[in-house]
Amino acid sequence: MKRVYLDYAASTPLDENVWRVMKSYFSPSVNEKYGNAGSLHAWGQEAVNAIDDSREIIARALGTEPREVVFTSGATEANNLALRGIVNAWHKNQRHRKSLIPRVIVSAIEHVSILETTEDLEKDGLVDLVILPVKENGIVDLEKLKKALNQDTILVSIMYVNNEIGSIQPIREISNIILNFRKSLDPSGYWLYPVFHTDAVQALQFFDCDMCTLDVDLMTISAHKVYGPKGAGALCGKNIFYKSPKIIEPITTGGSQEFSIRPGTQNTPAIAGFGRAVSITLSKQKAEYRRVRELKKYFLEKIKTLSPDVHTNPRDTERNFSPHIINVSFPSMSAEDLLVKLDLRGIGISLGAACSLRVKNESHVLRALNVSEETALSSIRISFGRETEKSDIDYFVKVVREILDSKS
Ligand code: PMP
Repeated sequence: MKRVYLDYAASTPLDENVWRVMKSYFSPSVNEKYGNAGSLHAWGQEAVNAIDDSREIIARALGTEPREVVFTSGATEANNLALRGIVNAWHKNQRHRKSLIPRVIVSAIEHVSILETTEDLEKDGLVDLVILPVKENGIVDLEKLKKALNQDTILVSIMYVNNEIGSIQPIREISNIILNFRKSLDPSGYWLYPVFHTDAVQALQFFDCDMCTLDVDLMTISAHKVYGPKGAGALCGKNIFYKSPKIIEPITTGGSQEFSIRPGTQNTPAIAGFGRAVSITLSKQKAEYRRVRELKKYFLEKIKTLSPDVHTNPRDTERNFSPHIINVSFPSMSAEDLLVKLDLRGIGISLGAACSLRVKNESHVLRALNVSEETALSSIRISFGRETEKSDIDYFVKVVREILDSKS
């Protein structure tokens, strides 16, 4: 049976060159590379070198310093470290002013690792959480952001590219608003709150993630969204990890790995692969963007031929959307049924984010767009990647047509 993978936003296949690099650190022999990066002997040094090479590649890619790249087990952990780390540090520094609850602002369409974490912090009484709505075009309402900022705001976390609908947030405009707000609180530039964090997991593949150009303080990335391995991510800072008093605290305790910010033996093969994956991704970024943009155009033309009712969410995704993620509604179909039928014909798509939809079935992202429940339950996410070709889209459309025809 033909197999067509249209779920690159959930995970990308491992690039062969990445695998080759990783393999050399998965050695079954003591004579080869398998050491613990914390060991002082040659085996340990080999692991340290591999990790440091990746750290340098990623720092260069994001326009920051190597010591501002902290490897984690993935983006979920990096997001937790950013949010809990900033909030914990703030409370430690303010021990004498216990009554003040700091404000944290996030958008309504963040990944669950941001939303669940901030909601947890709110339940524990540690933050005053403001969830910013998005407009019907999937973009954060900047006027509402301006209004939500107050002098107790310590953190704003707004994702770069949304993982369910592909909308691109105006990160540069958001950082401008935050910087101007900071200046209004303290013209000397000493005051560092609110810190601006962005989850750039779905952005790194196609968009400029230079932290200086974007003027973000913290950025989360994940290896398995850029043809690297699962189980490796990073929280990257721009002049943030070494402030005194600390502006971010570790959220786990243990050894001194990752500059004591993320204790625990590093996953050397995965981190080595992560670095290679990022450098390959950057070398292909522009050409892949153009190629996938053409695929999206082709896809949108093709699905129009299926039925006049078929539409994307939101309906207009021409501007300010990543080309690789498309949310589509097939009004006469249950999305779950469609997923199963497509799977039986060898096509892999998803209902939304792979992380949340096994437990809940209505997407919080579509709800934030004011999409009706009925439409949300008939919507699927298609995502393209390096191996997607027009023939895959043709096959998808042919199979969906057959499924729709068999219903009527
Ligand atoms: N943020 C976004 C935007 C994502 O798409 C994902 C993966 N679905 C994550 C965070 C979590 O990444 P990881 O799987 O590395 O924990």
